[in-house]
Amino acid sequence: MSFPVLIPEAEFGIRSLCQAARLIEQIRREAGVSSLTKMDRSPVTVADFAVQALVAYHLAKEFSRDPLVAEENSSIFKTSEGAKILETVTHFVKQFIPEARAGSVAEWVDRGTADPSDRFWVMDPIDGTKGFLRGEQYAIALALIEKGKVKVGLLACPNLKDARSPEIGGEGTLAVAVRGQGGWHTSLKQPKGFRPLRVSRRQKSSEAVFLSSVESRHTDRDRVERVMNKLEAHTQPIAMDSLAKYVLLASGGADILLRLPSAPQPQHRECIWDHAPGAIIVEEAGGKISDFEGNAVDDSTGRILTVSRGILVTNARLHAAALEALKEI
Ligand code: AMP
Ligand code: MG
Repeated sequence: MSFPVLIPEAEFGIRSLCQAARLIEQIRREAGVSSLTKMDRSPVTVADFAVQALVAYHLAKEFSRDPLVAEENSSIFKTSEGAKILETVTHFVKQFIPEARAGSVAEWVDRGTADPSDRFWVMDPIDGTKGFLRGEQYAIALALIEKGKVKVGLLACPNLKDARSPEIGGEGTLAVAVRGQGGWHTSLKQPKGFRPLRVSRRQKSSEAVFLSSVESRHTDRDRVERVMNKLEAHTQPIAMDSLAKYVLLASGGADILLRLPSAPQPQHRECIWDHAPGAIIVEEAGGKISDFEGNAVDDSTGRILTVSRGILVTNARLHAAALEALKEI
């Protein structure tokens, strides 16, 4: 099947993310992967900055009035270690944008520091950096938000062999959704035959397949286990990094994902780019998303999401049962 809806924003996203994935592959091949530690103690790599610069450059060319709200900024380039990083980033970006210079690359990265407005894009150049460093799952995440609602969402998962399975390798998976039109997946290397995404039809809570983070610091495992016990769901959760989890759920490969702050860091708040690009993909595939009270997640609150306690992502049929279990524990 070919791509059924060719709205220009979705086409732009597909082109940009396919190129971003090639850029990351080039970096991995020539320079390998290593990380710096940011002020918030999370890791960042050459690839994060290079992808943000590349997509910000294309966005300004094609949708010049749309602001970009993205994870990275150029402040780290001011340190001596950061200046070397900028040199490497520029070297790789130049292979795709010949006019790139260190100064312009830093400026393109900083285009992502814009404020949210009536219509804006959000991006996480590498979501799941720890998975990326381990050679496991990660995602390039991009979404368009209009009047507080996600309108287009894209996830490029270079290490996801098939949308329905957590297996690593192959040509990678590209998922795209357009509000009201549907969601599809295809090969990231050859994005031609788009297939529709559909969540699972599972409704017996004891058969529910859960997803979880690989990193124990990114979730409260104990609470997830208690919810599973309440539902008498005993299948081992599928551990995966990044928003690739949303793709697996949207394709019917899993049924329930709980995103909640880990016990040692209860103050952790989700950023809009960590959720919005995947949320529309799950919803257009027939899934459901809410906070732990059952309220819709508000995508109009700026860079940081304000959700009550955590985010529940399900195949819709199991949503009420999961909410009930959350209330009880
Ligand atoms: P994962 O790929 O499941 O490991 O999740 C990656 C995401 O975890 C990042 O995008 C962060 O938003 C999020 N994260 C980082 N620290 C925490 C924390 N202490 N609690 C919950 N989520 C976190
Ligand atoms: Mg992230």
